[in-house]
Amino acid sequence: MSISENLKAIQSDLPSSVTLVAISKTKPVSAIQEALEAGQIHFGENKVQEMTDKHAQLPESILWHQVGHLQSNKVKYLAPYVHLIHSIDSLKLLQEVNKQASKHDRNIQVLLQMHIAEEETKFGLDSDELKALLEHPDFASLTNITVSGLMGMATFTENEQQIAKEFRGLRKLYDEISAAYSSHHHCNWTSLSMGMSGDYKIAVKEGSTMVRVGSAIFGNRVYS
Ligand SMILES: *Cc1c(COP(=O)(O)O)cnc(C)c1O
Repeated sequence: MSISENLKAIQSDLPSSVTLVAISKTKPVSAIQEALEAGQIHFGENKVQEMTDKHAQLPESILWHQVGHLQSNKVKYLAPYVHLIHSIDSLKLLQEVNKQASKHDRNIQVLLQMHIAEEETKFGLDSDELKALLEHPDFASLTNITVSGLMGMATFTENEQQIAKEFRGLRKLYDEISAAYSSHHHCNWTSLSMGMSGDYKIAVKEGSTMVRVGSAIFGNRVYS
Protein backbone atom coordinates (compact mmCIF):
# COMPACT_ATOMS: atom_id res chain seq x y z
CA MET A 1 0.00 0.00 0.00
CA SER A 2 1.09 3.57 -0.64
CA ILE A 3 1.77 6.14 2.07
CA SER A 4 -1.54 7.88 1.39
CA GLU A 5 -3.45 4.59 1.55
CA ASN A 6 -1.74 3.71 4.83
CA LEU A 7 -2.63 7.12 6.26
CA LYS A 8 -6.24 6.76 5.21
CA ALA A 9 -6.50 3.29 6.75
CA ILE A 10 -5.01 4.46 10.06
CA GLN A 11 -7.11 7.64 10.18
CA SER A 12 -10.24 5.54 9.71
CA ASP A 13 -9.27 3.59 12.85
CA LEU A 14 -8.83 6.73 14.94
CA PRO A 15 -11.57 8.77 16.61
CA SER A 16 -11.50 12.36 15.31
CA SER A 17 -10.30 13.52 18.75
CA VAL A 18 -7.04 11.58 18.42
CA THR A 19 -4.10 13.34 16.73
CA LEU A 20 -1.98 11.25 14.39
CA VAL A 21 1.72 12.14 14.42
CA ALA A 22 3.49 10.58 11.43
CA ILE A 23 6.96 9.50 12.57
CA SER A 24 9.16 10.05 9.54
CA LYS A 25 12.62 9.30 11.03
CA THR A 26 15.07 7.80 8.50
CA LYS A 27 12.58 8.47 5.68
CA PRO A 28 13.33 10.87 2.81
CA VAL A 29 11.77 14.29 2.32
CA SER A 30 9.85 12.87 -0.66
CA ALA A 31 8.00 10.48 1.67
CA ILE A 32 7.00 13.38 3.93
CA GLN A 33 5.82 15.33 0.88
CA GLU A 34 3.64 12.42 -0.14
CA ALA A 35 2.07 12.29 3.33
CA LEU A 36 1.67 16.07 3.35
CA GLU A 37 -0.18 15.93 0.03
CA ALA A 38 -2.48 13.32 1.58
CA GLY A 39 -3.41 15.85 4.27
CA GLN A 40 -1.02 14.87 7.07
CA ILE A 41 0.16 17.90 9.11
CA HIS A 42 1.89 16.50 12.22
CA PHE A 43 5.30 14.86 11.71
CA GLY A 44 7.73 13.51 14.29
CA GLU A 45 11.45 12.80 14.31
CA ASN A 46 13.83 11.47 16.96
CA LYS A 47 17.06 13.16 15.82
CA VAL A 48 17.31 16.94 16.05
CA GLN A 49 19.76 17.26 13.15
CA GLU A 50 17.57 15.20 10.83
CA MET A 51 14.42 17.10 11.82
CA THR A 52 16.15 20.47 11.36
CA ASP A 53 17.39 19.49 7.88
CA LYS A 54 13.92 18.32 6.87
CA HIS A 55 12.28 21.40 8.38
CA ALA A 56 14.49 23.59 6.16
CA GLN A 57 13.40 21.74 3.01
CA LEU A 58 9.67 21.46 3.66
CA PRO A 59 6.72 23.87 3.96
CA GLU A 60 6.34 25.94 7.16
CA SER A 61 2.82 24.54 7.56
CA ILE A 62 4.21 21.26 8.96
CA LEU A 63 3.94 20.87 12.73
CA TRP A 64 7.15 19.20 13.94
CA HIS A 65 7.24 16.90 16.97
CA GLN A 66 10.39 15.80 18.78
CA VAL A 67 10.02 12.23 20.03
CA GLY A 68 12.68 10.12 21.70
CA HIS A 69 15.56 11.14 23.91
CA LEU A 70 16.59 14.80 23.63
CA GLN A 71 20.02 16.05 24.65
CA SER A 72 20.23 19.51 26.24
CA ASN A 73 22.90 20.70 23.82
CA LYS A 74 20.57 20.05 20.85
CA VAL A 75 17.62 22.08 22.11
CA LYS A 76 18.87 25.30 20.54
CA TYR A 77 18.51 23.82 17.04
CA LEU A 78 14.84 22.91 17.33
CA ALA A 79 13.74 25.84 19.49
CA PRO A 80 12.98 28.18 16.54
CA TYR A 81 10.36 25.91 15.01
CA VAL A 82 9.39 22.82 17.04
CA HIS A 83 5.65 22.39 17.70
CA LEU A 84 5.71 19.86 20.57
CA ILE A 85 8.50 18.07 22.45
CA HIS A 86 7.30 14.66 23.70
CA SER A 87 10.37 13.64 25.67
CA ILE A 88 11.01 15.94 28.64
CA ASP A 89 12.30 13.83 31.51
CA SER A 90 14.12 16.29 33.76
CA LEU A 91 13.81 19.81 35.13
CA LYS A 92 17.25 20.58 33.70
CA LEU A 93 16.09 19.75 30.16
CA LEU A 94 12.92 21.75 30.66
CA GLN A 95 14.97 24.74 31.85
CA GLU A 96 17.05 24.56 28.68
CA VAL A 97 13.91 24.43 26.50
CA ASN A 98 12.57 27.46 28.39
CA LYS A 99 15.83 29.36 27.90
CA GLN A 100 16.01 28.65 24.16
CA ALA A 101 12.29 29.37 23.69
CA SER A 102 12.72 32.78 25.31
CA LYS A 103 15.60 33.60 22.94
CA HIS A 104 13.16 33.12 20.07
CA ASP A 105 10.36 34.90 21.91
CA ARG A 106 8.31 31.70 21.79
CA ASN A 107 6.34 29.50 24.12
CA ILE A 108 7.16 25.83 23.45
CA GLN A 109 4.70 23.08 24.28
CA VAL A 110 6.09 19.96 25.93
CA LEU A 111 4.98 16.59 27.22
CA LEU A 112 6.57 14.97 30.26
CA GLN A 113 7.74 11.46 29.39
CA MET A 114 6.74 8.81 31.90
CA HIS A 115 8.48 5.47 32.39
CA ILE A 116 5.74 2.82 32.12
CA ALA A 117 7.55 -0.10 30.43
CA GLU A 118 9.32 -2.99 32.08
CA GLU A 119 12.53 -2.37 30.16
CA GLU A 120 15.21 -0.49 32.08
CA THR A 121 16.37 1.26 28.94
CA LYS A 122 13.32 3.40 28.26
CA PHE A 123 13.64 6.95 29.50
CA GLY A 124 11.09 8.69 31.63
CA LEU A 125 9.88 9.83 35.03
CA ASP A 126 7.95 7.92 37.68
CA SER A 127 4.92 9.55 39.31
CA ASP A 128 6.88 10.87 42.30
CA GLU A 129 9.46 12.47 40.02
CA LEU A 130 6.63 13.97 37.94
CA LYS A 131 5.07 15.63 41.00
CA ALA A 132 8.46 16.78 42.26
CA LEU A 133 9.14 18.43 38.90
CA LEU A 134 5.77 20.23 38.80
CA GLU A 135 6.18 21.40 42.40
CA HIS A 136 9.84 22.39 42.17
CA PRO A 137 10.28 26.09 43.06
CA ASP A 138 12.23 26.65 39.84
CA PHE A 139 9.33 25.33 37.74
CA ALA A 140 7.34 28.49 38.53
CA SER A 141 9.79 30.70 36.62
CA LEU A 142 9.55 28.77 33.33
CA THR A 143 7.37 31.29 31.50
CA ASN A 144 8.29 30.18 27.96
CA ILE A 145 7.09 26.58 28.14
CA THR A 146 3.67 24.99 28.49
CA VAL A 147 3.24 21.47 29.84
CA SER A 148 0.52 20.06 27.58
CA GLY A 149 0.43 16.50 28.88
CA LEU A 150 2.22 13.21 29.30
CA MET A 151 3.86 10.67 27.00
CA GLY A 152 4.73 7.03 27.52
CA MET A 153 5.96 3.94 25.66
CA ALA A 154 4.72 0.46 26.56
CA THR A 155 6.93 -2.58 26.91
CA PHE A 156 7.96 -4.13 23.58
CA THR A 157 6.04 -7.39 23.90
CA GLU A 158 3.44 -9.51 22.13
CA ASN A 159 1.43 -9.59 25.36
CA GLU A 160 -1.48 -7.25 24.62
CA GLN A 161 -2.81 -7.52 28.17
CA GLN A 162 0.45 -6.18 29.49
CA ILE A 163 0.49 -3.32 26.97
CA ALA A 164 -3.13 -2.46 27.80
CA LYS A 165 -2.34 -2.49 31.52
CA GLU A 166 0.58 -0.10 31.09
CA PHE A 167 -1.45 2.32 28.95
CA ARG A 168 -4.39 2.12 31.39
CA GLY A 169 -2.05 3.02 34.24
CA LEU A 170 -0.72 6.02 32.33
CA ARG A 171 -4.25 7.21 31.50
CA LYS A 172 -5.17 6.96 35.18
CA LEU A 173 -2.11 8.98 36.16
CA TYR A 174 -2.91 11.55 33.47
CA ASP A 175 -6.46 11.93 34.80
CA GLU A 176 -5.20 12.35 38.38
CA ILE A 177 -2.43 14.78 37.52
CA SER A 178 -4.51 16.89 35.14
CA ALA A 179 -7.17 17.23 37.86
CA ALA A 180 -4.74 17.89 40.72
CA TYR A 181 -2.72 20.41 38.69
CA SER A 182 -5.55 21.79 36.57
CA SER A 183 -4.72 25.41 37.33
CA HIS A 184 -1.02 24.96 38.03
CA HIS A 185 1.31 27.48 36.38
CA HIS A 186 2.51 26.67 32.84
CA CYS A 187 0.18 23.66 32.60
CA ASN A 188 -2.57 23.21 30.02
CA TRP A 189 -3.54 19.54 30.05
CA THR A 190 -4.70 18.53 26.58
CA SER A 191 -2.58 15.61 25.40
CA LEU A 192 -1.73 12.05 26.29
CA SER A 193 0.77 10.70 23.76
CA MET A 194 0.75 6.91 23.70
CA GLY A 195 0.66 4.30 20.96
CA MET A 196 2.95 3.39 18.03
CA SER A 197 2.49 1.22 14.91
CA GLY A 198 2.29 -2.00 16.89
CA ASP A 199 0.06 -0.84 19.72
CA TYR A 200 -1.84 2.32 18.78
CA LYS A 201 -5.21 0.52 18.64
CA ILE A 202 -4.74 -0.64 22.23
CA ALA A 203 -3.56 2.84 23.23
CA VAL A 204 -6.63 4.51 21.73
CA LYS A 205 -8.91 2.06 23.53
CA GLU A 206 -7.14 2.97 26.77
CA GLY A 207 -7.59 6.71 26.28
CA SER A 208 -4.71 8.01 24.17
CA THR A 209 -5.28 11.40 22.55
CA MET A 210 -2.15 11.35 20.36
CA VAL A 211 -0.52 8.41 18.57
CA ARG A 212 2.99 8.34 17.08
CA VAL A 213 2.96 6.05 14.07
CA GLY A 214 5.97 5.46 11.81
CA SER A 215 6.41 2.12 10.07
CA ALA A 216 2.67 1.50 9.57
CA ILE A 217 2.63 4.65 7.42
CA PHE A 218 6.06 4.75 5.78
CA GLY A 219 7.05 1.05 5.80
CA ASN A 220 9.81 -0.57 7.80
CA ARG A 221 12.90 1.45 8.56
CA VAL A 222 16.29 0.35 7.30
CA TYR A 223 19.15 1.50 9.49
CA SER A 224 22.53 1.64 7.87
C1 LIG B 1 10.19 5.50 16.17
C2 LIG B 1 9.26 5.97 17.21
C3 LIG B 1 7.87 5.83 17.07
C4 LIG B 1 7.22 5.16 15.87
O1 LIG B 1 7.54 3.81 15.83
P1 LIG B 1 6.77 2.79 14.84
O2 LIG B 1 6.85 1.50 15.54
O3 LIG B 1 7.54 2.83 13.56
O4 LIG B 1 5.40 3.30 14.67
C5 LIG B 1 7.06 6.32 18.07
N1 LIG B 1 7.56 6.89 19.17
C6 LIG B 1 8.88 7.05 19.35
C7 LIG B 1 9.36 7.71 20.59
C8 LIG B 1 9.77 6.59 18.39
O5 LIG B 1 11.10 6.75 18.59
